[in-house]
Amino acid sequence: MDLRQLVRDVPDFPKPGILFRDLTPLMRDPRSWQEVIRQLEEVCERLQPDLIVGIESRGFIVGMALATQVALGFVPVRKPGKLPGSVTGVDYALEYGTDRLEIISDALEGGPRVMVVDDLLATGGTAAACAELVEAAGGKLCGFGFVAELAALEGRRRLPEEHPVESLIIYT
Ligand code: IMP
Repeated sequence: MDLRQLVRDVPDFPKPGILFRDLTPLMRDPRSWQEVIRQLEEVCERLQPDLIVGIESRGFIVGMALATQVALGFVPVRKPGKLPGSVTGVDYALEYGTDRLEIISDALEGGPRVMVVDDLLATGGTAAACAELVEAAGGKLCGFGFVAELAALEGRRRLPEEHPVESLIIYT
């Protein structure tokens, strides 16, 4: 099954000059989406996480589906101000300005092995910040799973090199 056939290329989104890889047709096709989750389950078998962390917002869709499939808990990492109660945060640089990710402070209590999941790896800034946040909150990172990766942006070079980075569809 060629999953990339169901990824739609959208030129000039969200800004002129950007070619957006839209995964929603893949999510809309039940057999293909089951295949995505099945392949990520194999990644899980290799990484042996105790918990799945998903990055807002498409990382919630992928991460929660995977967590349910492998019967693990799911923890959301969100943009600032969205999570209730005590949160731990990390600021990270964007092309212009900075952004921030947050996690509920005690969500990783006990030091679980954490697999970070998102829909797509581009420059790696978001996933690198999430990795830093997982460690800051007491989790033990065990690797990353992405549905797609834009390899030309070299995002994996920004991720901690001791942990596996697995992407199902790689755009070279
Ligand atoms: P990065 O921080 O540059 O690696 O960007 C990754 C984040 O931006 C992920 O959370 C993705 O959901 C989102 N993203 C960037 N480019 C695309 C794209 O072409 N398709 C879908 N999501 C994208």
